[in-house]
Amino acid sequence: MFAYDRGLRLLDIDLAVDIPRRQPRGFISHAHADHMARHELAFCTPATAKLYHYRLGERTTREMPFGQPLEWGPLRLTTYPAGHVLGSAMLLAESADASLLFTGDFRLGPSETCLTATPPQADILIMESTFGDPRFRLPPREESCERLLEIVRGVLADGATPVIYAYALGKAQEVAALLARNGIAVGLSKEAYEISLIYQTFGCQLGDFQLWSGEPLDGRVLIIPPRAKKLACLAALRRISTISVTGWAHDPKHRRRMATDHAVALSDHADFNSLMQLVEIVAPREIFCTHGPESFVESLRQAGHSARVLSTESRPKRG
Ligand SMILES: [Zn+2]
Repeated sequence: MFAYDRGLRLLDIDLAVDIPRRQPRGFISHAHADHMARHELAFCTPATAKLYHYRLGERTTREMPFGQPLEWGPLRLTTYPAGHVLGSAMLLAESADASLLFTGDFRLGPSETCLTATPPQADILIMESTFGDPRFRLPPREESCERLLEIVRGVLADGATPVIYAYALGKAQEVAALLARNGIAVGLSKEAYEISLIYQTFGCQLGDFQLWSGEPLDGRVLIIPPRAKKLACLAALRRISTISVTGWAHDPKHRRRMATDHAVALSDHADFNSLMQLVEIVAPREIFCTHGPESFVESLRQAGHSARVLSTESRPKRG
C-alpha cells in the first residue's frame, strides 16, 4: 500500500505524504515547514490550504475537509483532526483489503485553537513519536497553563514585559488564546500576527492582539519566535522577563539550554502517554514510527505491539 523513499508514498495513487520537497502530487498534513513544499498539486484541509498559500505563495490545491472521503482509484482517503495546529490532519487511506492511518504531527485532548484529534481505527499506523522517550510524560495541560498564567501575572505586576518564545504557527495562537481567555492582551511578531488573522477567519477567537513593531508594550505580553531571542528592538521594552513555552522544557537539560528566565512544558505534540494512548485507540496490526527516538519502538514492543522505525526497508506484512 505504501513505500518509503526519503518520505512516505501511497503507491496505488502515487501520492507523496508530507514530503518537504516538490512533488507532482503531495498531501500536506499541516502547514509547518518540514511537512510541505511547493507541490504541483497539494491535497490538504481548507485551513491548511490557507496557511500554505500564506507561507509559500498561491498554489494549486485540492481541499479535503475533515470527514469527507475522497475516492481515488482503489483508495478512499479521509482526513481527521490531528489536534496539533489549525487545519492539522491525520490521513486515513482505505483499500479493499487494508487501511492505513498517517498521523502527521498530532496531540490528543482539547486545545484553545484547533479541533480535538479524533483518530480512527486502522490496520497500519504510521505515527510521529517526537516525545517517544518515557521521560516526556508532560504535566497535565491545565497545570502548565496555570503555571504560565502565574508567571505572566507576576511579571506584569512587577512592571516588566513578559516575552514568550513560541513558534509563529500554532503555539503563538494557542498562548494568545489562553491569555485572552484570562483577560491578558498580547503583541505579536509580524508572521504570528498575520497567521492569527487567518485563525480568526476560521472562527478561532484570539481576543485582544496587535502587531508589535518594536514599540514599548504597556501591560501586554509579547509573543515572538524562539529565533528572535536576540532582536535589538527588545531593548525598547527595557525590563523584560523571558519565557520558553515548549514540551522540551520538561527536561532539565533542555531547559538549561533555553537560557530563558522561565520555561513552561506546554506542547502541541503528544507526550509519551498520549502516544501510547493513540496506539490503543487506533488498534493497528503494525506500527511504523517517524520523527522520534528509536527507543519508542522498543516501548511499543514491550507493550505487545508489532512496531518498527519507518525507513527504506519498511514493508508492511500482508494478511
Ligand atoms: Zn508540526
